[in-house]
Amino acid sequence: MSNVSGASSGSSNVRQSGFVVGVPKTCWCGEQIVAKNTKSEPNSCWRYFRCREAAGEKLANDNHTFKWVDEAQLDEVTTLGVQMDILKEEMKELSIEALQDQKMKFEKMQMEFKKELLERV
Ligand SMILES: [Zn+2]
Repeated sequence: MSNVSGASSGSSNVRQSGFVVGVPKTCWCGEQIVAKNTKSEPNSCWRYFRCREAAGEKLANDNHTFKWVDEAQLDEVTTLGVQMDILKEEMKELSIEALQDQKMKFEKMQMEFKKELLERV
């Protein structure tokens, strides 16, 4: 009877380093991000964000920040959508709390009004 163990460690550490959700602000190297256009094709002019250093040096296959504007905007919209959902949930709770608060204030006002009436009589 044999027991094989320890040979099942897979490669589960696939990680995209330097991946930024939304519009990148600065590159990991500290340089600013600039918006550029692709000029290689005359018909299409794709906008992208690029590390200023890498763009200036015309680097290729480097690991400085590169991101399509469309992709970044899609991220922003998705993030916004999530934030909207959270906001909506918060609004729901807030409005119930606000209503209860209003009701309590109203009841308190009624009580004080009744007290005032009784004192006058
Ligand atoms: Zn950089």
